[in-house]
Amino acid sequence: MTAPIRLAVIGMGKIANDQHLPAIAANPDFDLVATVSRSGEPVGDLPLFPNIDALIASGPVVDAVALCTPPQVRRAIAATALAQGWHVFLEKPPGATLAEVVTLENAAQAAGASLFASWHSRYAHGVEPARAWLAARTIQRVTVTWREDVRVWHPGQEWIWAAGGFGVFDPGINALSIVTRILPRPFFLEDAVLDVPANRQAPIAARLNFRDDAGVPIAADFDWRQEGPQHWDIVVETDQGILRLADGGATLTLPTGETPTQADGLHGEYPGLYARFAEVIRAGTSDVDVAPLRHVADAFLRGKRETVEPFVE
Ligand code: NAP
Repeated sequence: MTAPIRLAVIGMGKIANDQHLPAIAANPDFDLVATVSRSGEPVGDLPLFPNIDALIASGPVVDAVALCTPPQVRRAIAATALAQGWHVFLEKPPGATLAEVVTLENAAQAAGASLFASWHSRYAHGVEPARAWLAARTIQRVTVTWREDVRVWHPGQEWIWAAGGFGVFDPGINALSIVTRILPRPFFLEDAVLDVPANRQAPIAARLNFRDDAGVPIAADFDWRQEGPQHWDIVVETDQGILRLADGGATLTLPTGETPTQADGLHGEYPGLYARFAEVIRAGTSDVDVAPLRHVADAFLRGKRETVEPFVE
């Protein structure tokens, strides 16, 4: 039996408490030994440190850290952790820029540590069966609709509206993480429109048109102004009917009406992520795919920016 990986979680906000702590508690490969929070309460009897430097200076022995802070501050913390030789789990998006993720990959390699750029939506139950089904079909069109109410899902998160906070691409990149996984070919942005509130730095909505090398159009509609029913849907039209992936990748419906699901130990969003993190650590590798982040960067590079009414929470 291999010893559990001693893990500290850094940035005790919504996702750390809602998803990381339960997934870690349920995974015998990990032993939570500390948390790092500027303001939060300790978890049970575990030591709490105000920042990573305090963890290094006086903390318990750590093998790995999970970084659940906003993207703007993640690189510096990750670099400090890697310099200790600790394995690093990056919440999505893996960085605020593409280049900083490359420097982290290089640092991980130099330190002999594992870097895991997590994409939780890829571990939703319908995603791998969708990928398998699409591999044998001719794809004609892809339509992505990601419409949610920012006031419900991101209350009080000022960082998300700041430069580097991604705005509506914070959820939108989840859709892109699925699409880049299930489609058989890479694709590229042709045009985009980003709606940016007059009082904010990040978009509240975006409409994007991509195409792949075979000419297949991929349209995405991301909007944070959705009230009432929320939508996290991907529709793929093929030569053999329409595949629908709903509920953020959780519910797959094939043209036959079948609803296949993948529920092994590597799936289910956060249990799946921690199973994968343990796997890359044990294998001495890293898992860093920046494809979804690249599409977001391209949208900021190529997209037309329109100023819309101020957003007041
Ligand atoms: P959040 O609730 O705002 O939590 C982020 C935490 O990071 C804060 O509570 C704070 O923790 C710490 N933090 C904030 N600013 C910091 C700074 N300047 N320096 C150091 N630490 C700072 O945000 P969240 O929703 O958990 O999202 C965090 C990340 O997880 C984002 O990248 C997001 O995309 C991703 N994510 C979120 C969700 C979700 O449903 N919310 C789902 C999947 C992924 P302390 O006060 O403890 O220091």
